[in-house]
Amino acid sequence: MHIAIVGAGLSGLTCARQLQSKGHAVVIYEKSQAVSGRMSTRQNELGGFDHGAQYFTVSSPAFKKATTQWSKAGWIAPWEPRLAVLDHGKTSAPSAAARRKPRWVAQPGMRSLGVHLAEGLDVRTGQLVRTITREGDQWQLAVQCDSVPVDATAGPFDAVMIAVPADQAIALLAAEPDFAAQADAARLAPCWTLMMAFPESLGLPYDAAWVDHSRLGWIAQDATKPGRRPGEHWIAQATADWSIEHLEDDPERAKEKLLKAFHDATGTHVQPVFSAVHRWRYSQALQPLRADCLWQPALQLGACGDWFTAGLDGMGRIENAYLSGMALAERIG
Ligand SMILES: Cc1cc2nc3c(=O)[nH]c(=O)nc-3n(C[C@H](O)[C@H](O)[C@H](O)COP(=O)(O)OP(=O)(O)OC[C@H]3O[C@@H](n4cnc5c(N)ncnc54)[C@H](O)[C@@H]3O)c2cc1C
Repeated sequence: MHIAIVGAGLSGLTCARQLQSKGHAVVIYEKSQAVSGRMSTRQNELGGFDHGAQYFTVSSPAFKKATTQWSKAGWIAPWEPRLAVLDHGKTSAPSAAARRKPRWVAQPGMRSLGVHLAEGLDVRTGQLVRTITREGDQWQLAVQCDSVPVDATAGPFDAVMIAVPADQAIALLAAEPDFAAQADAARLAPCWTLMMAFPESLGLPYDAAWVDHSRLGWIAQDATKPGRRPGEHWIAQATADWSIEHLEDDPERAKEKLLKAFHDATGTHVQPVFSAVHRWRYSQALQPLRADCLWQPALQLGACGDWFTAGLDGMGRIENAYLSGMALAERIG
């Protein structure tokens, strides 16, 4: 079959690899200039900053199998940060269970995993899928690309797999209201993220910390992850509540507020030599859908992503995206 996948994040890449290994002809359309979606690393002259997903955990046998292979290939490595909980200047130890949990990161940056997974796939970057249209028993895509003033038509495809965050999937599923209504039940929270590079060590007794009673929920010293360039590179993520409340804030103002929250939480005063914010309109699904994917055999139309529980508890995360991408690929014989 000739299959189009919309989105080159972990779920889309996983689904594509699985379908291609079964002999299907797969084309992935990705609106960004790079693959890997929210497993992202921003590069500048100081090095990389993992400003999206921080790390991942492994609980299911299927994901364990995949991560074992990725680890053998050197694509991922364990990250064992010194962890803490911060609350108004007080530092305490997290629970033993939180400390013991194995954490994995891609190296040299979170984005690299997507880059490896995209090897050998037909990925068309810089191509935004605007609509998908059923024509007879096939699909046509309207694709917008910066270098061309009018949308191009791509297709026909026998099946379309949508591997984008739920809200973006709803826009693409406008012609299939039943399908869109199911996607509408999953909502992803936004996240303002601050990246900072300091001229000297901050001398903190932890590498990453959960922050209580603050605008921030999590901070991490990025350069303590394996394979990173040395430096004092911190990531600070705002809480979902603060990010929702300040979603439309001016980036400079959001940066100022988050920088102050970082200094308050860590008790440091050193000013960064580099700082920038990124607003993720969609970060993690607080309540994923209780399914592993959506699939309409009559339409040969499916959706996958971290907004499906895929048998896991808790918020949507990298493991959900992987399991959901695999599950959707299994729906096609
Ligand atoms: C700030 C932040 C922190 C996080 N922390 C963690 C963490 O510590 N641990 C963890 O496990 N998970 C974490 N996550 C969640 C994790 O990143 C996601 O669960 C996972 O990467 C989702 O993969 P995905 O393929 O489902 O979606 P995505 O990675 O979002 O991929 C979707 C892709 O589709 C593209 N796209 C969207 N619309 C279109 C369109 N119309 N046409 C073409 N392309 C389109 C997008 O550009 C994107 O590349 C975090 C996420 C964020 C943002």
